[in-house]
Amino acid sequence: MSSTSFTDLGLLAPLCQAVADAGYQTPTKIQTQAIPLVLSGDNLIAAAQTGTGKTAAFVLPILQRLAGGETQRKKRFRALVLAPTRELVLQVAESAAKYAKHTGLKTLAVYGGVDSQAQKQALLDGVDLLVATPGRLRDLYTQRAVHFDEVEVLVLDEADKMLDMGFIDAIDEIVTRLPAERQSLLFSATLSQKVRELAKNAVDNPQQITIAAAAASKANIEQWITTVDKDKKSSLLSHLIQQTPWPRALIFIETKHGAAKLVEQLAKRGIEAESFHSGRSQAVREQLLEDFKAGKIHYLVATGVAARGIDIENLERVVNYDLPFPADEYVHRIGRTGRAGAQGEAISLVSKDDFKNLCMIESRLNHLLERREIEGFAPRKPVPISILNYVPKAKRKPQ
Ligand code: AMP
Repeated sequence: MSSTSFTDLGLLAPLCQAVADAGYQTPTKIQTQAIPLVLSGDNLIAAAQTGTGKTAAFVLPILQRLAGGETQRKKRFRALVLAPTRELVLQVAESAAKYAKHTGLKTLAVYGGVDSQAQKQALLDGVDLLVATPGRLRDLYTQRAVHFDEVEVLVLDEADKMLDMGFIDAIDEIVTRLPAERQSLLFSATLSQKVRELAKNAVDNPQQITIAAAAASKANIEQWITTVDKDKKSSLLSHLIQQTPWPRALIFIETKHGAAKLVEQLAKRGIEAESFHSGRSQAVREQLLEDFKAGKIHYLVATGVAARGIDIENLERVVNYDLPFPADEYVHRIGRTGRAGAQGEAISLVSKDDFKNLCMIESRLNHLLERREIEGFAPRKPVPISILNYVPKAKRKPQ
C-alpha cells in the first residue's frame, strides 16, 4: 500500500507548500476522500467529527478554486463558511489563513458578541473567503454591509451544532439569498434527521462521505503512556524491550525515515528489528509480515500507513513511538493487540511534541491514559496533563 500525498489529491503547489509548512505529512481519511470531490465541483455532505482534519478537507480545495479568480466588488466575498461559535469561526479562519499564505487570498472572520464596526470596515474592500456565525452574518446583510451575489461556495460546518444552537432561521435566510448556482458542502458530527432536512434545502444532489469513528478502547487492552524527552525515546524503547522484557512488539512511528533510523539505533543496542514502510517493496513487506508472525522477527517498526492492513493473531504488544494524528488512528493501532478477547498491551512514548495529539487522543477516548514513570527517563521537558474535550485553539485573531 502506498500512501497518498496532498499533491496526489490534485492540490496545487502553493497549497501543498502551506500544508508542508504546517507540518502535515499525509492527508487524513476525510481529506483523502473529500478533497478530490470538492475539487471536481461536487456538492457534499460529510459525517465527520472535529479532530479528523475536516477543516483542511474543505478549505484547501476551496482555496484552489478561489485562486483561479478574484472577488470583483466591494462588500463581496466568494466563499462562505458558516460555523456555530466565535471560537470555531476564529479557528477555521486561522486555518484558512495558514493554508492561504502562499496564494495571496484574503480571509476574514465575523462573529457576534463584539462591535461590528471593524468587521464592516474589513468587509468594505471585499474578501475571498468569509467565515461567519449565522446570526452576525444575517445582521450584516440586513444592514447592507455585505452582499451575497458573488458567492460561489457555501460550507455549513458543524451543522448539527448550528441547529442545536437555534440558528436554523438565520441559516435559511442566508441560504435563500445566495446565488442558486453554487457549490455547497455540509459537515456534521452526526447526520440526524434535522441535519438531513437542512441538507435537502441547502445542498443539492450531494455526494456523501461518512468517516466512522472507530470504537474506543477495549477493556482487554492495557493502555499506558510514559513521558520522555524526544531524544531519549530510542534508549527508553531499548530499555523496555530488554529489561521488562518484551519478547515481541509492533512499533508504530510516523515517518519512513524515522523507522529506518530507529532500526539502526536499536541495532546499536543489540536489538534486531526491521522497518516496515511504503519505501519497501510489496514482496519484502509480505515476507517481513510472515517472518514477524512466525516469530523470526521480534520487533517490527512500522509507519501507520503501511501497517494499515496488518492483521496478526495474538499480538501481545503495540508501541506508539510517537503519537498519531488523527485520534482514530490511535484507536486503530491499539486495536491490533488484544484481539479475540486475548490480553494486549498498548504503550505510548510521549514527549512534549506529542502533547497536542495526546490531548486529541485522550479527548477521543474520553479519559486520561495511565501514566507510568520509568526510572532514569523522567523528561527534562514535562508533558502537561491534557485538557479533555480539547479543541485546538486559534492562536491569534485573523485580521
Ligand atoms: P480539524 O478536525 O479540522 O479540527 O483538525 C484538527 C487538527 O488537526 C488541527 O489542529 C489541524 O491543524 C490538524 N491537522 C489537519 N490535517 C492534518 C494532517 N493531514 N496532518 C496532521 N495534522 C493535521
